[in-house]
Amino acid sequence: MKRTFYSLALGLTSLTMMPSASAQNGNVGRLTGKFVQPANGRQCAAMEVLDRQLATDPQMAQRMAEIEARTSRFVANPVANRAALTGPVTIPVVVHVLYNTNAENVSDTQVQAQINVLNQDFAKTNADASLIPAAFGSAAASTNVRFALAKRDPNGAATNGIIHKSTRVKSWSTNDAMKQSKRGGDDAWDTSKYLNIWVCDLGQGLLGYAQFPGGAASTDGVVVLYSSLPGGTAAPYDKGRTATHEVGHWLNLRHIWGDASCGNDLVSDTPTQQTSNYGCPSFPKVTCSNGPNGDMFMNYMDYTDDACMYMFSNGQSSRMDALFASGGARASLLTSTGATAPLVATTAVETLTVFPNPTSGQLSIRTGLNTPAIGWQVKVYDLRGLEMPQARTAATGTLDVSGLPTGLYHLVLTNGKSIQHQSFRKE
Ligand SMILES: [Zn+2]
Repeated sequence: MKRTFYSLALGLTSLTMMPSASAQNGNVGRLTGKFVQPANGRQCAAMEVLDRQLATDPQMAQRMAEIEARTSRFVANPVANRAALTGPVTIPVVVHVLYNTNAENVSDTQVQAQINVLNQDFAKTNADASLIPAAFGSAAASTNVRFALAKRDPNGAATNGIIHKSTRVKSWSTNDAMKQSKRGGDDAWDTSKYLNIWVCDLGQGLLGYAQFPGGAASTDGVVVLYSSLPGGTAAPYDKGRTATHEVGHWLNLRHIWGDASCGNDLVSDTPTQQTSNYGCPSFPKVTCSNGPNGDMFMNYMDYTDDACMYMFSNGQSSRMDALFASGGARASLLTSTGATAPLVATTAVETLTVFPNPTSGQLSIRTGLNTPAIGWQVKVYDLRGLEMPQARTAATGTLDVSGLPTGLYHLVLTNGKSIQHQSFRKE
């Protein structure tokens, strides 16, 4: 079906995922927020949240339209655009665990298991990829997106990427309160550098929701029900696929049925299908004249059970790629150092000495064992913080500073594992 993105965006809201009893049947764009405990299916509130954000943020529709135009151009010229992508992107992730009860305080082990599921699902290394029907086999994608728990926080300190925070809030909703410390939640880490995942009790049967690219920075990220993590108690949504689905939205994927009857999900290789699927359908399930293969109900962007969704399509993968191309909405993540551990403090034995000080020509750099500090990178800065390129390190642990003007200088020495600061005077 041919539709402009603009009208589509206005017809959609934000994306949330929830198990629900009866509110499915293709009516996701008009969820009321009255969610019930699951009886026969998952539901996601991402579109509902999108609708709310579009209504309160007048510029958001325009931002999304620009992202969509960029995506269309990218997908239309995949060879030229793909050349810019040299391999998978690894996204630093911070997980905010908000708990009111012990059960909600999921373990670091479970969080890591969730990250593992994300990596398997996005790389098509999930064991159940073997269940993909042959008819869809060539459409199944190993995407270019991977995930790693942060090793460095926004202040540069070491972290394991997991925050456990006790809260008085007993259950949350889709109003983004969990993303704000002042409302009992936990503020996002710089959303241009990290994928923020909040894990909490969403209440009202909600499984999760996500914010699309183009939304407000402060609320960017995804929210998932604590019991939806792998090994959780939200069966049949207990294998971590809620996060896979929500991160799919965060990477600009629509529900596979296009949130309308025989709607458009903006992807060419996913068959048009009438509405969301639930449970575990039998292949093929033909709707909207999409035979003989029928609905791609095993796609992560449908509403089937965790055990019955196990693929992204190549077209969906291309939409993700577009976000990381030059100028793309998620391209800033490419230069994040969040997944790289900070340099650790040196131990006593590694302490360096620099002499003679002052000097007019050569500085010797020695370790605590009085051996030349070979393998260390040395940078020299003046008191204004400007690097002095005329000072070069010799491989022998000697620094020639004869080319520097007289004055005080600062040295930064690194060997990939530790960092040291020293000063000297040039005479
Ligand atoms: Zn969804």
